[in-house]
Amino acid sequence: MSSIGRQLQEIKGRIASACAAAGRDANAVTLLAVSKTQPADAVREAAAAGQRDFGENYVQEALDKMADLRDLRDLPLRWHLIGPLQSNKTRVVAEAFDWVHSVDRLKIAERLAAQRPPQLPPLQLCLQVNVSGEASKSGVAPADLPALAQAVAALPPERVRLRGLMAIPAPADTTEARRAPHRALREMAAALQSRGLHLDTLSMGMSDDLEAAVLEGATMVRIGTAIFGARKP
Ligand SMILES: *Cc1c(COP(=O)(O)O)cnc(C)c1O
Repeated sequence: MSSIGRQLQEIKGRIASACAAAGRDANAVTLLAVSKTQPADAVREAAAAGQRDFGENYVQEALDKMADLRDLRDLPLRWHLIGPLQSNKTRVVAEAFDWVHSVDRLKIAERLAAQRPPQLPPLQLCLQVNVSGEASKSGVAPADLPALAQAVAALPPERVRLRGLMAIPAPADTTEARRAPHRALREMAAALQSRGLHLDTLSMGMSDDLEAAVLEGATMVRIGTAIFGARKP
């Protein structure tokens, strides 16, 4: 087995252990392989090992990789945009991706809805929340989340579907400090559900905080380094 294949197995083992510890079904957590900065051949290797969901941060890099991997179109791979999205890139994203995890303002969601080709299934959306309150991080402030969520949920469902919330918490040293922001995101999703929104996705957990995220209810974990190795700076 390739090293990427072995590392995928190892991550699945970590997900299964964390699910067992949390009393959750291991199938309730989808593994997103974050392939940003990795060559198309790394994605090819992961796909050969059975991986189907891939996360990318940079739109042009992702489009180039998709073009390189056109011969795999029968698998099919699912592409998730997890990096910041500017409004001048929404059209190509609406045409090429399956999910966008990084929606943090209404204008972006409106453009994605208007530009999603009608022959494609709806684009699946998560709202990125700035859970750690860092000035430099993107994401909607928690106080502004309910209004944004209501507005995005009201967009045409045949074009875009609001599925849940995404966060990138600040790094932390202790288990409890790692769990707190994930718990906060879960509670924000629960509050929106109690207002009648149907959310089924919590996109949280990376190589270093996977266990904390799964213990707090992550349904999609975004893992790069632990699958593909360190990224070149
Ligand atoms: C790079 C990145 C990841 C993966 O991080 P690793 O620490 O390499 O697992 C996950 N989510 C987002 C938004 C990222 O930018």
